[in-house]
Amino acid sequence: MFDLKTLVRPNILALKPYSSARDEFKGDEGVFLDANENPFGTLNRYPNSDQKNLKQKLTAYNGIANNNTFAGNGSDEIIDLIYRIFCNPGKDKALTFTPTFGMYQVAADINDIELITLPLNDEFQINRNDLTSYFEDENLKLIFICSPNNPTGNCFNKSDIEFILKNFKGIVIIDEAYADFSDQQSWQNSFEAYPNLIVIQTFSKAWALAAARIGIAYANDEIIQLLNNVKMPYNISKLNETAAIEALENRKDFEANKQIILDEKALLIQELKTLDIIKKIYPSDANFLLVEVEDANQLYQNLVDQKVITRNRNSLVKNSIRITVGRPEENKKLIKALTDLIGFKNLSSLNTTK
Ligand SMILES: *Cc1c(COP(=O)(O)O)cnc(C)c1O
Repeated sequence: MFDLKTLVRPNILALKPYSSARDEFKGDEGVFLDANENPFGTLNRYPNSDQKNLKQKLTAYNGIANNNTFAGNGSDEIIDLIYRIFCNPGKDKALTFTPTFGMYQVAADINDIELITLPLNDEFQINRNDLTSYFEDENLKLIFICSPNNPTGNCFNKSDIEFILKNFKGIVIIDEAYADFSDQQSWQNSFEAYPNLIVIQTFSKAWALAAARIGIAYANDEIIQLLNNVKMPYNISKLNETAAIEALENRKDFEANKQIILDEKALLIQELKTLDIIKKIYPSDANFLLVEVEDANQLYQNLVDQKVITRNRNSLVKNSIRITVGRPEENKKLIKALTDLIGFKNLSSLNTTK
């Protein structure tokens, strides 16, 4: 039987969470003299600490109940909270599959947790053979799975994720920051089947709200309760909560912009394929493309010189560059910059052979 309590740090289990004035009196009406707020202004009141308005909108959108939903100050806060809830500093461990999103390592380092990194195979998929021996380690508390994965762009095989969910006794985190762009089914409803699962999503990518810092976690209510106990009481500002609510109310914009991004991605793939400096375009379920080039450091710099900024991922995947799909005119600029570079290269090789 899965017993969540055996995985939680003892001090967190024993924690008596902060109770704010707004938690103690829940009504909306009255003269509010309870929170030492300023009676003047429009942002003078503390926000709801449980983000119930945002959660109600999310429930209307995806059917997941409020007590299975957590809102964080970006996914980054959620990742950090998960380490703090489950991992004893200097003792416990987490595991992930590399190359992947850098925050799992940064948050591990901040919390003094060892992060075991297992390399993905040549198809950027999880290698199951390596895995089972790690499952025995009782200090291994967390496995982070980023799917679609950043920076490789692909989703991991469903059967491999299921294998981990079924066989690992600790917490499995599936980071679905890019799931909105993918045809693959989300894991967001799977916490009922897998009480050790936390799915993380974000408003930063498909919802176009990176500046608002809203990350969402879906999990069973025991895990959600722990996240609520440990977070700062007002972790999401009212301005940011309102921005997310408005985005959910304007689903048409979300869908329309997402479709433009997906169409542009298909176009970009077609055009990149015709350029001989692009050696390989890795399959992508996200809003970016990882491409292999001859010399990533050089190409990255050449593009910067033309004021086109990509992400040089040479240190993670040799000679690779990660390109976010932009607006149509931005993507055209990228293609023009690449075409000009090829023209220039051909010209200078002509000159030197003379
Ligand atoms: C961009 C991204 C996020 C988003 O983080 P926020 O803190 O919500 O902005 C999360 N995970 C991955 C893998 C990402 O690439």
